[in-house]
Amino acid sequence: MSILVPQATAAGPRGLYVACRECLKDFRSSELVGRLCVTCRVHQRCAEVRGELETFIRKQRRYAAAGAAVKPEQLERLKRRLIRRIQEVAPDPRMGMELFEKELQAALAPTGVVSRGRVLEVVQASQLLR
Ligand SMILES: [Zn+2]
Repeated sequence: MSILVPQATAAGPRGLYVACRECLKDFRSSELVGRLCVTCRVHQRCAEVRGELETFIRKQRRYAAAGAAVKPEQLERLKRRLIRRIQEVAPDPRMGMELFEKELQAALAPTGVVSRGRVLEVVQASQLLR
């Protein structure tokens, strides 16, 4: 959480630009809700599911190391929940897909699952760990 006080930064041709209080990037004031941009609102909304995804991936690795498997449906369920949360905040499907990748990256990054840029590869990689 930023402790900086958001300020109006510039008046552009399409209206007043204001900094998002979390990422500090400038947005048209109409794009902010509670002084947060859509990306930061999605990130906030997905925090719980990201934590569960991270826990799941770690569990998957422990199980794999022990020669056991976890149910793949569990991962599918978590991904669907992530998508639903994103859709609640960002109904536009294209933006939703981008944010889905971003949120999945954020969830998997702490687990050390190597990403080559595309989350779908990351997910497949994580499924191979089973
Ligand atoms: Zn932001």
